[in-house]
Amino acid sequence: MTTPTPTLGDFHLPDILNEPMRNYEPNSVDRAELQKAVDELIAAGPQEVPIVIDGREFTSGKKSQQVNPGNHKQVLCNYYEADESMVDAAIQGALKAKEVWANMPWSERAAIGLKAADLIANKYRYKLLAATMVGQGKNVWQAEIDAGAEICDFLRFGVKYIHDMYSIQPPRNSPGVWNRTEYRPLEGFVFAVSPFNFTAIAGNLVMTPALVGNVVLWKPSPMAIYSNYIVFQILKEAGVPDGVIQFVPGDAPTVANAAINHREFSSLHFTGSTFVFRSLWKQISNNLDLYQGYPRIVGETGGKNFHFVHRSANVDAVVTQCIRAAFEFQGQKCSALSRLYVPKSLWEGGMKDKLVSATKGISMGPVNEFKHFMGPVIAKHAFDKILGLIEEAKQQGGQVLTGGTGDDSVGYYIQPTIIETKDPRSVTMVKEIFGPVITVYVYPDNEIEETCKLVDTTTEYALTGSIFSSDRQELLRISNLLRNASGMMYYNDKCTGAVVGQQPFGGARASGTNDKAGSMNIFFRFVSPRTIKESFLDPSTYIYPSNQ
Ligand code: NAD
Repeated sequence: MTTPTPTLGDFHLPDILNEPMRNYEPNSVDRAELQKAVDELIAAGPQEVPIVIDGREFTSGKKSQQVNPGNHKQVLCNYYEADESMVDAAIQGALKAKEVWANMPWSERAAIGLKAADLIANKYRYKLLAATMVGQGKNVWQAEIDAGAEICDFLRFGVKYIHDMYSIQPPRNSPGVWNRTEYRPLEGFVFAVSPFNFTAIAGNLVMTPALVGNVVLWKPSPMAIYSNYIVFQILKEAGVPDGVIQFVPGDAPTVANAAINHREFSSLHFTGSTFVFRSLWKQISNNLDLYQGYPRIVGETGGKNFHFVHRSANVDAVVTQCIRAAFEFQGQKCSALSRLYVPKSLWEGGMKDKLVSATKGISMGPVNEFKHFMGPVIAKHAFDKILGLIEEAKQQGGQVLTGGTGDDSVGYYIQPTIIETKDPRSVTMVKEIFGPVITVYVYPDNEIEETCKLVDTTTEYALTGSIFSSDRQELLRISNLLRNASGMMYYNDKCTGAVVGQQPFGGARASGTNDKAGSMNIFFRFVSPRTIKESFLDPSTYIYPSNQ
């Protein structure tokens, strides 16, 4: 048994602010340091990444590689895949580590979260950015958004939201009685499964449940192993005790089966594709008789995001926002723009030419050359899938206005692509592509309602969307028509770029459980509150006045 540590004060948190973004402009210290970190990482050759259970490093019989997607001959790291017995051992170890962690005073868990953010923002910023750039193919700005700012924001605002959640208590108006609510961590362990595309999301999938006292089995994406391992090491340095987070890369079904078929599995915290999330949910449902409780299932999944342009919109601004939303990080954001609805008058009146010509001017190349706006897509399977969908769209009558080709001889590069379609339900208007492709549907200016209906019903997803209009009445009308078409709605802004603490993120329908990462809401999913009523005065008789 551990002796509980007293909390001898009602501590106030430090001020919680968004991490300031750095610009990495030419001749700046930041740029020189980051360039050095990237160059050194590339020159160093393959890193070694172990499986980590209870703070001990393990190898296994199965070794795999994460390559640089911008130069696939270059191996960024060798890592080991956990087998079933290792996953079991990790779960046992996590459950043992739980008592100390869950009983740690909140101020100390909070301090660990805040310290991790400060370590990332300062000591490890360049290292984590370099790993995210080289491993996941992000250019400097995209890496800074992710591994410089957002990951710190998740940690710091997470601490603030938990603090606020803990302070939500029952009313204090019953004389002789004190009512309280305890926000207990879930019984058992949380299984976190993270995607390749955001280092910050991976860290958040783990730390959201951990900060409220849960223990977590973490299966990182094979395409983000190295940056995720650095995050894991930073969390350890910040003070997360051994065993609280178990780092278990491995074959996805092997790790998932061992976790989900365990009696003490209490929650899935997932971000990735809709298909994988659904299959895990079904597996969990089939196991309901096995579990001690009803598992919490939290997942943010695919998107098929839109820009709806009204004839009153500022065309130049729309063009800029479309390019950023669709082509930044090669369209590999769940929120990336994929469907563009433009009124005929604007499209033919110059927007088409402006969009195509600006897209043709985009610079693409390896991310260690900082000048490029775009880099590679993540892997061969993504490269093939994206080009395959473009081909299918062409066969369905889509007209490729620019791009449409790729080159995977050195890295997985796909030209930014614009397809114009006359069929609003053709393949690239419907399926998630996760690549640098916009499909444009030109609508008659006066068919706003019909077109909104199309936007709303064309796909199964409902993640992000934007409306561009300088006519307030029309903006509101369109917004009302599209109320359920996205969980994130932007007015005169691009459909990507949500900031923690400002725009809580998530979507509905096939896009996820919409628990809003980066808000207080999500923390409720990883606690099981206990209500405590304490009576200060003893009753003298069981008889009520009405019995007299
Ligand atoms: P993915 O579904 O291929 O992989 C996600 C994770 O699931 C990885 O760790 C992967 O190894 C694991 N996985 C794959 N098959 C599995 C299986 N059978 N059992 C258990 N785990 C399995 O997704 P990805 O390619 O890494 O990421 C891209 C997807 O993530 C896109 O669909 C994107 O929209 C989505 N995404 C959504 C959000 C959001 O907030 N809505 C954010 C980022 C990414």
